[in-house]
Amino acid sequence: MANNERTFIAVKPDGVQRGLVGKIIQRFEDRGYKLVALKQVTPSKDHLEVHYQDLKGKPFFPSLISYMQSGPVVAMVWQGLDAVKQGRVMLGATNPLQSAPGTIRGDFCVQTGRNICHGSDSVDSANREIAHWFKTEEINDYTSDQINKWVYE
Ligand code: UDP
Ligand code: MG
Repeated sequence: MANNERTFIAVKPDGVQRGLVGKIIQRFEDRGYKLVALKQVTPSKDHLEVHYQDLKGKPFFPSLISYMQSGPVVAMVWQGLDAVKQGRVMLGATNPLQSAPGTIRGDFCVQTGRNICHGSDSVDSANREIAHWFKTEEINDYTSDQINKWVYE
């Protein structure tokens, strides 16, 4: 398993409005993941429809798109060992009522339609989503001596 796996994590509009951006970032930093891209954006409908292309046709798709368009989101790329799967574990279940305490959704929200954060569900999705949200030059390939020395053996 590679130490440089990347995942796409976003704070959704409700998370931004509720002032939870810092807390969500803190959890990934605390765990030892490296932030390699971050921006606040107000995505277009088209952009979101591509992002959620696999869910087109689901009954909740229109409300999901309008929820995601209700304000700015904070888009991030986090890098580290098993980042995609661990990112999902840190987020919790899609339905916050089924998310364990200690997960982001389990600690900060209660409804599926206001579940405050997004995380890629596979390495393939992560690569697709990172390329969809970020230009190559917006991703910062840098070395953290502290992480290299003290997070990894
Ligand atoms: N969603 C919803 N109702 C549902 C399922 C999903 O509103 O019954 C929303 C929810 O915000 C979720 C997003 O659609 O986070 C994407 O759904 P997905 O199944 O990909 O869940 P996730 O990967 O975000 O856990
Ligand atoms: Mg998903």
